[in-house]
Parts: sequence; C-alpha cells; structure tokens
Amino acid sequence: MHYRRLGRSGLQLSALGFGAWVTFGRQTGRSQARELIAAAWDHGINFFDNAEGYANGDAERVMGDVIADLRLPRDGYCVSSKVFFGAAETPGPTQRGLSRKHVREACDAALARLRVDHLDLYYCHRPDPDTPVEETVWAMDTLIRQGKVLYWGTSEWPADLIREADAVARTHHLHGPTMEQPEYNLLHRERVETEYAPLYDELGLGTTTWSPLASGLLTGKYADGVPDDSRLAQAGLDWLRARVLDGDTPDATSPVQRASRFVALATELGVAPAPLAIAWCLRNPHVSSVLLGASRVAQLLENLAALDLLDRFDAGTWGRIEASVG
Ligand code: NDP
Repeated sequence: MHYRRLGRSGLQLSALGFGAWVTFGRQTGRSQARELIAAAWDHGINFFDNAEGYANGDAERVMGDVIADLRLPRDGYCVSSKVFFGAAETPGPTQRGLSRKHVREACDAALARLRVDHLDLYYCHRPDPDTPVEETVWAMDTLIRQGKVLYWGTSEWPADLIREADAVARTHHLHGPTMEQPEYNLLHRERVETEYAPLYDELGLGTTTWSPLASGLLTGKYADGVPDDSRLAQAGLDWLRARVLDGDTPDATSPVQRASRFVALATELGVAPAPLAIAWCLRNPHVSSVLLGASRVAQLLENLAALDLLDRFDAGTWGRIEASVG
C-alpha cells in the first residue's frame, strides 16, 4: 500500500480507501462485510468511508460492529461520515441539511453507530442552499474543538462555495475545509481536473474520490445488460441505473459503449479493466485516496492490483487509455 497526505494536512491516508455505499447494510450481509474490512485492513487500507444516509444509518452500524469485532486499533485507521441527506426513512426538516442543529446531532448519531468517540473525517455530503455557509463552518469548527471530528470537508460542492467556506474560516480563525469528496473516473473528470485545479495550491485541498469504476461500468460487466447480482439490479436504484447506463447527455456516445472500448484496450494490454481504471485515478497527484467499493472480497483483491499498474505503462499508453473512452 502507498500512503498519501490528505492535501496540506498531516493526515496520511492509504492511497486506496474502502467505502460502504450500497453494499453495507443492504447488498452484502454482515459476515461478508467483516471479510471485506478484514481483507482491506490486511492489505494496508487505513481509511473506511461512510455516511449517515447509507442504508439509513445501517451501513455505519455494520461498519462499526465489524471494526469493533475485528479489534482494529483506533489509532491505526481512519473512519469518516457525511452529513446532509439524513438517516431517517423520510427525514423531517431538522433531520437533514447542514444547519447547526443537524450537523451536531448527525455527528453524535454517527459516532454512536460507528462505535467511536471521534470521526477522523466528516463531510458535508452536498451543499445546503437553505443554510448559510457561515453557520455550517462554525458548526464544523465547534465539532473539531469538541474533539468529535478531526478534519472536515465537503462532497460535490462547487469550487466557489468551498472558497467561501475557507474565507469564512480564515476571517474568524476557524478550521476550514481540508478535503473534498468528488466523483472521479475515466468518464467523469471535469470537476477534479479543471474546476478544483486552483484549490489544490490556494487552499491545500485534498481529495478522496468516489466511484473509480463508475459503479462497476468500467469493469465491462454491463456490456450485455445488467447482471441480477450487480449493483444496478438492486431495487430502488433506478435513478443510478439511468445515470450510469444512459449518462448525462443522451445524444452522446453511451457510457456503455465508451466503457466497452476501454475494456477492449485493457484486454489488448493484458490487464484486467477494474485495476487499470483505478490505477488511472491514482496517477493524478491531487487525489489523496481513491475510494473503492466492492460487494465481495474477490473484487476487492482484484482492485488492489491497481497499485502494481502505476508504473507499468509509458505516457503514450496512458494517453491511449484516456482516449479510449472519448
Ligand atoms: P465503484 O465505482 O468502484 O463501484 C463499486 C461497485 O462496482 C462494487 O460494489 C461492485 O458492485 C462493482 N465492482 C467493484 N469491483 C469490481 C470488480 N473487480 N469486478 C466486477 N465488479 C466490481 O465505487 P463506488 O461507487 O462503490 O464508490 C466507492 C465509495 O465512494 C463508496 O462506497 C462510498 O464510500 C463513496 N461514495 C461517495 C459518494 C459521495 O457522494 N460522496 C457517492 C458514491 C460513492 P456489484 O458487485 O454490485 O456489481
């Protein structure tokens, strides 16, 4: 495993992290979750990602139980949560968003579910147009001063809003955002590579990126339809299925076709597509940690091979890999 600093902070995260979205508390049982965390830990992963909204809090409950059961040393791993969507089935107005009330109560609830006394990383899962940024920055700073959170950040915030949060923090001598959690994969690059580009130097922003395989699409598993045991066949995820398979611009080449071209090139290069797609994300030096998802251990082990591919190809080949999805 390699370890990278989270932006300008002193925190060293494994270059590959492991997240619980869709899987824990939903698609995978508790014993599978235990095997996944154990395998991740055995291979040097020290960052486990979660959110209040994942399986209405059950993803955090499962992760907390498993980590406690495995007796992982608290000073050896980092765990995160995110606030915004709420954990209730149908959250009321005070049970979601980024108000001081919900930020504080969601943090306490996440601590209880994850069975820890502090969160290493805590994210504002989306911007909240109904709460002034200043209120959220103060709320996050308070959690840090209370020792409940060590680093706070954002997820899918526009660059200007991150700048605004940072400016509020500077003005009032508060802790500003350390990291952002954006989507980043071969099919989705703009935000990490262009929109956030100035923030890496200006703010020392770190990134923990999500969906390196575009929910599995870049493995080629959706080329001939949706397998019954895959994420996109899960009940209630029609919106994700449409987003992943159809893309944002219906007239453009379909994401499935673009992924098929990438898979064909991976085959030509003699490597599995999943670790190749993940290695491509890791090659960006502004990525602090690439968050992996896996519904079974074999997938996780295959994906960890990304670390061995970083120096395998020359710049021209990486250029062909990027061009394959064009
Ligand atoms: P990926 O894009 O890597 O998708 C993971 C899924 O792809 C797996 O659950 C599995 O689904 C399939 N898969 C993974 N590896 C393989 C393989 N080798 N062969 C075949 N299929 C494979 O990542 P995620 O979308 O899960 O994102 C990773 C993490 O990022 C999340 O767990 C979460 O922590 C975070 N995240 C954050 C978001 C945010 O808004 N901040 C949004 C989304 C994710 P299956 O077996 O079911 O087909």
